[in-house]
Amino acid sequence: MPTIFQKIIRREIPADIVFEDEHVIAFRDIAPQAPVHVLFVPKEDFATLNDVPGDRPEIVGRLAIAAAAYARAQGFAEDGYRIVMNCNGDGGQTVFQIHLHLLAGAPLGGFGA
Ligand code: 5GP
Repeated sequence: MPTIFQKIIRREIPADIVFEDEHVIAFRDIAPQAPVHVLFVPKEDFATLNDVPGDRPEIVGRLAIAAAAYARAQGFAEDGYRIVMNCNGDGGQTVFQIHLHLLAGAPLGGFGA
């Protein structure tokens, strides 16, 4: 059963895509939690961070590098941003295709703020 994000990758449902390359797609979150809220998703399927093999660090690394490049390109890298990956129930994960949240555009406060 494909996830919503896998359907976005296949262009089966629409999304506001802001970046794409061979390995990664990035699109705006449908329910933004900050002025900038973009999701970076690998095109290869992994349900959670727990499912990424230890010999595939590039799967996660590409997401962070793409998020930082996007922040630089959009001009908010110096002001700062936050990247977050939720895992399973206690982590608050709701879509089971791994993704990195990029949050920016305002002071985000500390954890729990
Ligand atoms: P998680 O809670 O799994 O870390 O994050 C899932 C994120 O996906 C949430 O922030 C949610 O707002 C977002 N989301 C859920 N469905 C859609 C959708 O159909 N399109 C987009 N662009 N974002 C979605």
